[in-house]
Amino acid sequence: MKIICVGRNYVDHAKEMNSPVPKSPMLFMKPSTALMINNKDFWYPDFSEEIHHEIEIVLRIEKHGRSIQKEFAHKYYNAITVGIDFTARDIQRKCKEKGHPWEKAKAFDNSAPIGRWIPIEEIADVNNLNFSMNKNGEEVQASNTAHLIFPFDELISYTSNFFTLNKGDMIFTGTPAGVGPVAKGDLLTGYLNGEKLLTCNIK
Ligand code: ZN
Repeated sequence: MKIICVGRNYVDHAKEMNSPVPKSPMLFMKPSTALMINNKDFWYPDFSEEIHHEIEIVLRIEKHGRSIQKEFAHKYYNAITVGIDFTARDIQRKCKEKGHPWEKAKAFDNSAPIGRWIPIEEIADVNNLNFSMNKNGEEVQASNTAHLIFPFDELISYTSNFFTLNKGDMIFTGTPAGVGPVAKGDLLTGYLNGEKLLTCNIK
């Protein structure tokens, strides 16, 4: 199982990072050891002093595929949830400065908690999905999939040109504006169309 992530897929987030809007999807990966399920606690790692939350819609790949055409891409995922792309922003900044790969900042253990899966049949329109995250009960990030720079079908098609997709793989589809630091004691909750799917305590 692999987790493929997309960077800067919402214009407002690219702007808040002072980063240009990409012309094609910006991809990176997290290993299976990054995945965290069942609303487990996140233990703040010793190597960073600036862990940021990034709430994202996550797709679950249903079947094997490569070089998938855009018009068939919707057949390759069967469930959706929200997840958090935890990012060690201090380490990422250093990696970027040096032109180094940023895996240490993005792919560390438990950096990818995900919520309860919603089967695709229960979703009316994947291109009009509200999602949001609360920190300690207050909304800090919210957007709608209508604002994606590269919509799901385009992401799946593009990604599959480089990485064969397998059943059980996941795609983190990018975060909107409002990313920010978490601290020990924080409670993060993630919502899809108003329904709470993810809870994560920072320890
Ligand atoms: Zn992200």
